[in-house]
Amino acid sequence: MRRMALLSLATAARALSSTARRAAKPSAAKPSAAKPKVLRQKQPPGVFDVGSLDRQALETFVVDDLKQPKFRAKQLREWIYDKGIDDFTNMTNLPAKWRTDMSERGLTIGGTIAGTRAEQISQRDGTIKRAYELRDGSVIESVLMPYNDGRRTACISSQAGCGMGCTFCATGQMGFSRHLTAAEIFEQASRFSRELRRRGERLSNVVFMGMGEPLANYNNVIEAARRIHDELGVGARHITISTVGLARGIEKLADDPLPVTLAVSLHQADDESRSAIMPVNKRYDLETLLSSINNYQRKTKRRVTFEWAAIQGENDDEQAARKLGKLLKRHSVKDAHVNVIPLNPTKGFSGKKSSNVDTFCRTLQDEFRISATPRVRRGIDIDAGCGQLTTALEEGT
Ligand code: SF4
Repeated sequence: MRRMALLSLATAARALSSTARRAAKPSAAKPSAAKPKVLRQKQPPGVFDVGSLDRQALETFVVDDLKQPKFRAKQLREWIYDKGIDDFTNMTNLPAKWRTDMSERGLTIGGTIAGTRAEQISQRDGTIKRAYELRDGSVIESVLMPYNDGRRTACISSQAGCGMGCTFCATGQMGFSRHLTAAEIFEQASRFSRELRRRGERLSNVVFMGMGEPLANYNNVIEAARRIHDELGVGARHITISTVGLARGIEKLADDPLPVTLAVSLHQADDESRSAIMPVNKRYDLETLLSSINNYQRKTKRRVTFEWAAIQGENDDEQAARKLGKLLKRHSVKDAHVNVIPLNPTKGFSGKKSSNVDTFCRTLQDEFRISATPRVRRGIDIDAGCGQLTTALEEGT
């Protein structure tokens, strides 16, 4: 019986692994500074993560491998995603024998994450930041941000490390390690979602703004985003994929049926200054980037959000706002919105609080009719900037 169970798990693991291989083809929009190494979605011996199966795969697994009727897959999904339960023994409407069997067969929920290496909770705003250790020892970061209006936003990672080398970013300073699988990406959102469900709340937004450049790991990110939409019930418009400007990835996203929100990190409005802090600009300059955004808007009719990390004395004055306003007007970007975020401090940047953020936003609004919002710097009393908690772990602080 035990041997049969393991054989059948191995069959499912192989199916899953081939799905992951298909999904893990490197994106056409490869970063210049990195050589992506795609890790196949391995299951540790004797462990099978039910949470890594999407709706269809879970149904097939329940019927073909577990020899149960199809409706059991629906019941499992309700326990995991609607009620936030991750222990089979507590799934009380499932037959008791089946519950014990599943645990004994090494089935788990959320097995792609081996454990939590560190957790910080902001006393100021309730932001929770976690460093998770994956099965191969890689460490990634996820953040949950609660807002007073009821939104619960998860910020998740798409790669371990990052090869983009943005000079102001702690993850960029650490370098690229590997792409995350779709299951590893999904599990970060799913964990927060389950925790929230258990206390009667729900995950409302997911942003791909953690470690890594999401469009460099396109297929896995899109597969995870689909599952976040289908299984966690997060509206596609409330899923934001943020890029430093991989133009070819933006073109692909324009053709994807999942209507997620696109955010583009600009931070500087001329090529020389942008290339100095974001090496990706040497590959996709502003002209190329904005032309891909034009195509994206023509096809999708969707608003694009621009992220602007305000760095004191570098890009936060009226002159910088005018340069940005002119750039967006010159390229006829429609209905643009600019989020101005005071930079979190990192080793490379002091992150001194910009005192000009309000003036910067007002200049864009008054002189260019471009909507701009100063964003609250979340979790400033913890290491909430991307890559900062992992850096602190490595330095033993
Ligand atoms: S800001 Fe984003 S893209 Fe740039 S190095 Fe950091 S994680 Fe990578």
